[in-house]
Amino acid sequence: MFITQNIDGLHELAGSQLVYDMHGNMQRNYCLDCNQDYDLDYILDTADPVPRCSNCSGIVRPDVVLYEEALDKVRLSEAIRKVRAADVMLVGGTSLEVNPARGLVKYFRGKHLVFINLDPTGLDHRATMIIRGKIGEVLDATGL
Ligand SMILES: [Zn+2]
Repeated sequence: MFITQNIDGLHELAGSQLVYDMHGNMQRNYCLDCNQDYDLDYILDTADPVPRCSNCSGIVRPDVVLYEEALDKVRLSEAIRKVRAADVMLVGGTSLEVNPARGLVKYFRGKHLVFINLDPTGLDHRATMIIRGKIGEVLDATGL
């Protein structure tokens, strides 16, 4: 299971199951008026600088959390529930300076909290193991 703040949707494209994309996913788009779903190709293929719905001409926007918009409460609650129930949590590629990542770590009650980061974070004292490195390189080296 992944909890990510990335919006690129690459976890899903790589075949990962149970991805909680806290800031949404730019692979998903929808019409503001009729909620018709559109994929990223539809947005990239449109010549109009503002993508429009083929059904109702409404504005099509990405399913991502934009600046000053609130997080999806259902998605956040589910992520918190998963973190609380986990025995092991790997945290990587985040400075842990902003929510929701920083807040989610505080819900972890399991045995093994592992940070994989290049730089120290303000929550390093909570970790049971710290690996200094780039998360992609570390996971590649471990075969995870
Ligand atoms: Zn529409």
